[in-house]
Amino acid sequence: MTLAPQRPVTDPAPSRINVMQPWFGPEEVAAVTEVLQSGWVAQGPKVAAFETAFATRMAAEHAVAVSSCTTALHLALLVAGVGPGDDVVVPSFSFIATANAATYVGARPVFADVDPVTGNVTAATVEAALTPSTRAVVVVDQGGVPVDLDAVRALCDPRGVTVVEDAACGAGSTYRGRPVGAGAEVTAWSFHPRKIVTTGEGGMVTTSRRDWADRARLLREHAMDVSAADRHRSVLAPAERYVEVGFNFRMTDLQAAVGLVQLGRLDAVVARRREIADRYRDAFTGVDGLRCVQDPEWGTGNAQSFWVEVGPPHPLDRDGLLVRLAEAGVSARRGIMSAHRQPAYAGLDHAPLPVTERLTDTTLILPLFHQLSDADLHRVIDVVRSGAATGSGASR
Ligand SMILES: *Cc1c(COP(=O)(O)O)cnc(C)c1O
Repeated sequence: MTLAPQRPVTDPAPSRINVMQPWFGPEEVAAVTEVLQSGWVAQGPKVAAFETAFATRMAAEHAVAVSSCTTALHLALLVAGVGPGDDVVVPSFSFIATANAATYVGARPVFADVDPVTGNVTAATVEAALTPSTRAVVVVDQGGVPVDLDAVRALCDPRGVTVVEDAACGAGSTYRGRPVGAGAEVTAWSFHPRKIVTTGEGGMVTTSRRDWADRARLLREHAMDVSAADRHRSVLAPAERYVEVGFNFRMTDLQAAVGLVQLGRLDAVVARRREIADRYRDAFTGVDGLRCVQDPEWGTGNAQSFWVEVGPPHPLDRDGLLVRLAEAGVSARRGIMSAHRQPAYAGLDHAPLPVTERLTDTTLILPLFHQLSDADLHRVIDVVRSGAATGSGASR
């Protein structure tokens, strides 16, 4: 069955190339069907199995599945004891949920600038943003590029500042030979379809601390002292108690069943994505005014977002190149946002963030996903290279 109308064979218009597409197969369909047939669809055995498998794959001691990375970050800051009166250093160069998590717990986000090569905070940019009230720092593996976590921890650990890793984009990336996130006390992950492993919506908290994992488990389920799944197993369920004010941040077994299959695809997905990223880099070598995201010396990225910085002497600026791509049916995207420029944070003071603003204004994200065909990859490369050769649209 085809949902989209078929193009006539004579239609010369090239099909549209998306910036990102999740990769599902019949295995995900079978996994969801099995859960539906079991009759237990809310948080239950599949969530528990997904947590175990995820912890093993990410070299984490404890994993707690939740409804999104946004709720994972919220819980991470709560279990770390962050609250009103505290400052939390975050990059502005990130999806806005990174900063919002600090706001949710009543703390104040303090924006740190990023390194122009990685797009990530460094020990130096974090240090410049520390205040006497800093209680935590959220570092991000932006676009899947591993952050230099050890350097930030060397700064923060002696000061009693907790480092939370926002690895929303980081599944399958490595830092000093281990999965990203493994070296942080607490890490938050996303399973949104823009990320590498997807469950539709979903997230995970991983942590090296059993007490933090236990509290995250409690808080995600209304702070009930007996989980709904456990109560269901007993005929005469004991009366549950609500030991503090919790949340409903649960993942469903339907989502976890998909996550288990997706986790099994992770290595293949990352290998293919890195191959496509290398093809882009090779194709753009020698194109003046284009700079591609690279692996840092301390790890390997998963190519979650392949960004290119466009600058002089390139004849087009970033927006001009985006228009050029759109005209050719290629759906690229503006680079990562700057949270401090959004109305939501307009009232918040911050130090100058020149690198953040530059990267937000000059980078674009090219199509990159597992099923991207060689023909479509060449189409994208040709448009970018021809834009560099002639210039058109909004030229500089
Ligand atoms: C996508 C993303 C999030 C939010 O993830 P959700 O699962 O959609 O809540 C948080 N932080 C970063 C860096 C992200 O890229």
